[in-house]
Amino acid sequence: MKVLPRSAPLSLEEARCPVCSEILLEPVTMPCGHSVCLHCFQRTVKLTSLCCPLCRLRVSSWARKQSREKSLVNAELWELIRLSHPERCRRRMEQRDGQTVKKTSK
Ligand SMILES: [Zn+2]
Ligand SMILES: [Zn+2]
Repeated sequence: MKVLPRSAPLSLEEARCPVCSEILLEPVTMPCGHSVCLHCFQRTVKLTSLCCPLCRLRVSSWARKQSREKSLVNAELWELIRLSHPERCRRRMEQRDGQTVKKTSK
């Protein structure tokens, strides 16, 4: 995947999560360059013994390190997505926060 330009607004295509097909919320960018939402990462990647759902790259040691350092979320990309699609992010956040899902500790 190409490296994203910092300033340009992202198209919806670029900001879309390949797992849930929604806007990327708190994107986790894996070493292979694929990005999924944090909750998709936790649901999908962790269930598939920590392989990228798109290219099957094993990301287990990377994920352990990132969660230990609390840097799973690609803050730069997240910022860019929020700037590019504030309305969609807000709606998804509201949807998500509306659900009373118990948060699992990282
Ligand atoms: Zn997702
Ligand atoms: Zn991948």
